[in-house]
Amino acid sequence: MTLFTHSEFDNHEQVIHYFDKPTGLKAIIAIHNTNLGSALGGCRMWNYANDDEALTDVLRLSKGMTYKAAITGLPLGGGKSVIIGDAKTEKTPKMMQAMGRAVEKLSGRYIIAEDVNTTVDDMVNIHKYTNHVVGLPSEGTKQAGGNPSPLTALGVFLGLKATVKHRLGKNSIAGLRVAVQGLGNVGYNLCERLHEEGAELFVTDINDSSIQKAVNNLGATAVALNDIYSQDVDVFAPCALGGIINDDTIPQIKATVVAGAANNQMATSNHIGALKSRNILYAPDFVINAGGLINVYYEHESRINNCSNSKKSAMEHINYITTTIEEIFKYADVEDISTALAANKIAESRFLTGNTEDKILKFNS
Ligand code: NAD
Repeated sequence: MTLFTHSEFDNHEQVIHYFDKPTGLKAIIAIHNTNLGSALGGCRMWNYANDDEALTDVLRLSKGMTYKAAITGLPLGGGKSVIIGDAKTEKTPKMMQAMGRAVEKLSGRYIIAEDVNTTVDDMVNIHKYTNHVVGLPSEGTKQAGGNPSPLTALGVFLGLKATVKHRLGKNSIAGLRVAVQGLGNVGYNLCERLHEEGAELFVTDINDSSIQKAVNNLGATAVALNDIYSQDVDVFAPCALGGIINDDTIPQIKATVVAGAANNQMATSNHIGALKSRNILYAPDFVINAGGLINVYYEHESRINNCSNSKKSAMEHINYITTTIEEIFKYADVEDISTALAANKIAESRFLTGNTEDKILKFNS
């Protein structure tokens, strides 16, 4: 296993392997960039086939967090952690406490949060040894009903509307046809918002009961899994998996707007250009799905720095996703580049220099 020559290395500042013999904790914490602030990112527990696979995952994910925080205008860097093991059979409270000690050793350079296979209870155990943790029961996650997804969905909804306005010139989504892939925590909440504003929904999920719920409650039309791409709709909203914009699906897409919550929607960076050449306007996922990150940032500020009005600030900042996405579209139009590349360039212009003068960072100035 190599680091400096690893294909995903991408100038990571610090990568820590942490082992705790009494609990069996095997973890990697990757800190991509802290020019804008502490690296905040979730902790994923996964039964990786080997250490290399875990390293590749954590490097890729932590870099993504740097871009998300920077484009969102948060004074945060990007980081992520992975615990190697089966969450169902190997995770223990003591193991998570050991993870807390690992985080504490970094003195605030890394702030840990929930991710795949880690829970609010795990964050509580981590909190026994470090304050550098978000997603505690008394924080935003509880206020949002136990998970951050409603606020992520709100950001996606606002981003989707701004994308529709830019591409179709419509201020409202009433009467528009929207195909939603994935009716989980974010996808279903997004559907509720879309339905409330008068959109016509076409939905799919691997879980039949989720589809039925959307059909019964929101008047949605059920669509077979593989038919979701080819629906004759205005908007395609991927809210399930990554990598679903690829060679197979791009020719099928009839929507002129792609805007959804799923992380890493493009199979490869080449596919971003392919959407642009088909004149499909893409709302970069890491821009419009940042509502949850915004929320935990303000909750952390409220606990650590005693900032008041954190809830109001979080809502204002989530609303600002609309302005951010509009700025990205303008920049992409002027430069004649894809929206994803435009978002990356703006994010890089901030985190590579540590520039906080940018007007999109006004919330934190
Ligand atoms: P979730 O697990 O609650 O929901 C995912 C849904 O997709 C489930 O209902 C699942 O059955 C469905 N699904 C799985 N495979 C599918 C397939 N092949 N076709 C159709 N449906 C399929 O997850 P979530 O929290 O709603 O997150 C959705 C996406 O948004 C993920 O990519 C996640 O990484 C991303 N995201 C979520 C948040 C958040 O706050 N939850 C924040 C940022 C990004």
